[in-house]
Amino acid sequence: MNISLILAAVALVPQPAKLVETGGVTKNAEIRYVTDATVPAEGYRLKVAADGITVTSSDAAGRFYAGITLAQLKDGKAWPCVEIEDAPAYRWRGAHLDECRHFFGKETVKQMLDLMAQHKLNRFHWHLTEDQGWRLDIPGYPELVKYGAVRSASVRHGQRATKGSNEDADKLNGVKYGPYFYTEADIREIVAYAAERHITIVPEIELPGHVFAALAAYPEFACVPANMASREPRLVWGIEKDVLCLGNDKAIKFMEDVLDYVCRLFPGDVVHIGGDECPQVRWKDCPKCQARIKAEGLKDEHGLQPWITRHFVKFLEARGKRALGWDEYLLGDVPKSAIGMSWRTRRQGAGHELVSGAQAAVRGHDVVMTPNKFCYLDYGQCLPNDPFQYIGGKLPLEMCYSFDPCADVPAEARAHILGGQCNNWSEYTWNEYDLAWKVWPRTCALAEVFWLGDAKPGFADFKKRMATHRGRLIAQGVNCAPLE
Ligand SMILES: [Zn+2]
Repeated sequence: MNISLILAAVALVPQPAKLVETGGVTKNAEIRYVTDATVPAEGYRLKVAADGITVTSSDAAGRFYAGITLAQLKDGKAWPCVEIEDAPAYRWRGAHLDECRHFFGKETVKQMLDLMAQHKLNRFHWHLTEDQGWRLDIPGYPELVKYGAVRSASVRHGQRATKGSNEDADKLNGVKYGPYFYTEADIREIVAYAAERHITIVPEIELPGHVFAALAAYPEFACVPANMASREPRLVWGIEKDVLCLGNDKAIKFMEDVLDYVCRLFPGDVVHIGGDECPQVRWKDCPKCQARIKAEGLKDEHGLQPWITRHFVKFLEARGKRALGWDEYLLGDVPKSAIGMSWRTRRQGAGHELVSGAQAAVRGHDVVMTPNKFCYLDYGQCLPNDPFQYIGGKLPLEMCYSFDPCADVPAEARAHILGGQCNNWSEYTWNEYDLAWKVWPRTCALAEVFWLGDAKPGFADFKKRMATHRGRLIAQGVNCAPLE
């Protein structure tokens, strides 16, 4: 027997819940599959012994994850003998991608899905609409991609620009960007690709804010159509004041048509409807919005967002889907069936009151925890000589690993915490190399948090395994950042 095989370290990421090395190695690749209803959902038992490999699970996902573990265990042509009993701590283990500020395309998305599966992540939150770009072709609305999927310029590399489109014009690069968007055939291909990897896609259609690209295509859906005279998406980053006119029935019908199509195109059980960073200044001055406030008996413009949220939560439920939204959309009277995505830990500016993830869970909402201070991978990694640009903030690998989705949640509300997610915003991320550097290895740390919860073994143990695991990523051509 080859001594190097005996000494090969078992370096799994995420670490299984229970792992015993029973000694020796096997080259016997024969796998026996057993179904046992007592194994938890997505969990598996794996026995690697001299006489072969046995995989026991209650579902297809568990069997798939046993295969992922086996692939990581394999060393040359052999496997170390082990007994593993494994199941996830959280059922929502997500990664998000913003394809609106910058567009990465089908091949990058597929590689991301491959890598997500290798880390037992099971939700891909796909941010498809924004102020700066609309990336989904919608039947009956051809202008959406004609005007919304292309812009005349972007913020220049190395610059920051967050004000109105014209105020920061000196910071723009003057380079046409797009048109970039996905067709129905593209989406069907990617949905199937994800499903093969036990990943559910969660499409996001932002409303009622972050819709400037759609308003460029259909100016009549804005409170002040004249503000869309340039007929192009917002060119700079930041929060846009021009949002969907909620006094206009046609604007609401438009969003219904979009979401109806999205419900049919994406088979998953959840649709994200945004809800973040929606200024109300246009609604305040808009006669149509004011008429709506009166007709619906709302107090003032603050009542409009909860009103539209209630509408679309019910709209989605009628189509067999649950609504998910950023934490702002839980403000006001919103049905308990609405799932919150908690991204803030502090109130940020007037009009942006905070419903924390813990508060939402106590109120009875299910919550996905994605606090920016632990889960926003466009925050700086604090690496020496890091060549890439970040939106700001500090999020080194160890801090990702320290994340506890249930940290501030009272014990009686913890069942409402579905899990967590890594979010990849792309204002300052230009291409797949830049993206990979920000995503890996920090996603490895968060994937272990979501898989193991409180049972994670500690950062030193993780980092030791990562030394081997990073090599697996590099071998696949992933531009993985160093561990420090
Ligand atoms: Zn209006």
